[in-house]
Amino acid sequence: MTTTWDLTFVYKGYDDPQINEDLEKANQLAEDLAKYRNKLATLSSSEFTSFLQQHEKIGTYLVQCGSYGSLLFSQETTNDNFKALFAKIQQKNVEIGNKLIWINLEINKMNPETFVKFLDDPKMANYHHYLQVLRLREPYQLSESVEQIINQKALVSASAWVKFYEEYTADFKFEVELEGEKKILSQGDIRPKFRDANPITRENVFKTYYQKYIDDSIAISHCYNNIWKDHGQNVDLRKYPSSMTIAHIRNQTDEDIVETMMSVVKKNYTLIQEYYKTKAKLMGQGTSIKGSDLYAPITKVTKYSWKEAEEAVLGAYNDFDTEIGQMAQILFDKDLIDSEIRQGKRTGAFCAGLTPALMPVIHMSFDGTSDGVATLAHEMGHALHDMFSARKQTLFNYHPPLVVAETASVFGEQILTSKLLKTMNDEDSKLTLLVNQLEDAIGTISRQTMYIFFEKECHLKGAKQTLSFQEMSDIWDKHVKEAYGDSVNFLPEQSANWASIPHFLFTRYYCYAYSFGMLFVLGLYQKYLEEGSLFIPKLKSILEAGGSQFPIDLAASVGLDIRKEEFWQAGFDYLNGLLAEFKEIVEKRS
Ligand SMILES: [Zn+2]
Repeated sequence: MTTTWDLTFVYKGYDDPQINEDLEKANQLAEDLAKYRNKLATLSSSEFTSFLQQHEKIGTYLVQCGSYGSLLFSQETTNDNFKALFAKIQQKNVEIGNKLIWINLEINKMNPETFVKFLDDPKMANYHHYLQVLRLREPYQLSESVEQIINQKALVSASAWVKFYEEYTADFKFEVELEGEKKILSQGDIRPKFRDANPITRENVFKTYYQKYIDDSIAISHCYNNIWKDHGQNVDLRKYPSSMTIAHIRNQTDEDIVETMMSVVKKNYTLIQEYYKTKAKLMGQGTSIKGSDLYAPITKVTKYSWKEAEEAVLGAYNDFDTEIGQMAQILFDKDLIDSEIRQGKRTGAFCAGLTPALMPVIHMSFDGTSDGVATLAHEMGHALHDMFSARKQTLFNYHPPLVVAETASVFGEQILTSKLLKTMNDEDSKLTLLVNQLEDAIGTISRQTMYIFFEKECHLKGAKQTLSFQEMSDIWDKHVKEAYGDSVNFLPEQSANWASIPHFLFTRYYCYAYSFGMLFVLGLYQKYLEEGSLFIPKLKSILEAGGSQFPIDLAASVGLDIRKEEFWQAGFDYLNGLLAEFKEIVEKRS
């Protein structure tokens, strides 16, 4: 029996009057803060600290209400009461948020001496990192009137192209032959079929899917070209030192670190090539696999009951460390996991860490597959991260920045994998597990970095000239060839793969955060394999730091240097170990 969650520790229900009271309190506090407007620079450090504490308190009310609304909605997206509550809270959030906009602007406008005075004052230690992050964009900010014009114009330029792409491609219909019958599929229906068990279906699906983007090449090329040009203008206007600066600010990292990480990923493209050559062999395809078989399922799936999933995950965390095991247990004891599959429930899985004072909750739809068990271990990791962070951090420092946000979740998945590999006695399940782990790592690390190499070249060339659909496909093919070598025989239609990746449009250089995040954790995991239980207190201190440090300092605090190639290589050493196990089983079979 799967589980449903009990959210009454947040509010009693959608009609709990406390929700309105909390929103009102937040509103009142936001209005009270207005008396400090144009005066922040004149405050003493203690006054500025209590000002930020008030600001944080408003955030606490808003996050608590907002998360509750969103959780109820995720639980039952078709419930009109939940929908109405969520919409009302969102509206209130915007209204109150607008009353606070001046704060960050004013902090950013402080003259450097005043700002540094606050920053260096030990009384403000809790907000040190928060203030530092706030100021990262300051050197690239333009005058207020120019910023306003850019904001207004964005709605009808870059954002308009993104919106057009979203609506236009969301409406795509794909006519595809499935088991001898012509079917019309939507985006949501066709994408899972990349992993269909039938090879002919997979091939038809891949061909049809990318051909659609080729048929619509005029509209699609315009979207991408305008993004390349828009970003080029931004880089010039704001005098960013590089095309990628904005992404590094967002991720609280820098060019050198990211370049080092990416060069190590490139050196390890052998992982992709070796993996697919071995998968080709396993599938009886010689030394290179067909492009439509990239995600082909390998073996029959083992089924798990929820109870077995719970035991596997708790067992793995407990074996790792009893304190961590006990913390994970609380999520089950207090009914904080919604794992049931229900009509109207939001799809996907997430862990919501609300505020440091409240327990995190997990939302997922457990389907009984080994993937489902891995998802539980993953989301449980996020919950543990939140619980550790809550010990030391306040709201502004509670959540880690994107690139280190997966630390506990991916670490937890590896703990589970290693336990399962040790205890599983049937080879088919082992093979499935290794395939899942390796394909996940290749997809998250190697492929996402390849995306960035493609994106970088497009920005470079596309800022000055208009690139044709074919030219962008050629750039794509070049980077794909470099990554996959001759381990995959791609279908000609797959050269248009880039056109179906919305990340290039939504956020500049978004995808390296995936590579960075996962490789960062695998680097830590490899350290754990080397140091054993001595590493566990270090891991806990990283988790307790939450979002209070830059990734480089977080690693340095446990003696690791992310500027060094060796740090990133350690992650690949771990993956090469999994690859060797995979190869060994395949060799035995052939
Ligand atoms: Zn995650």
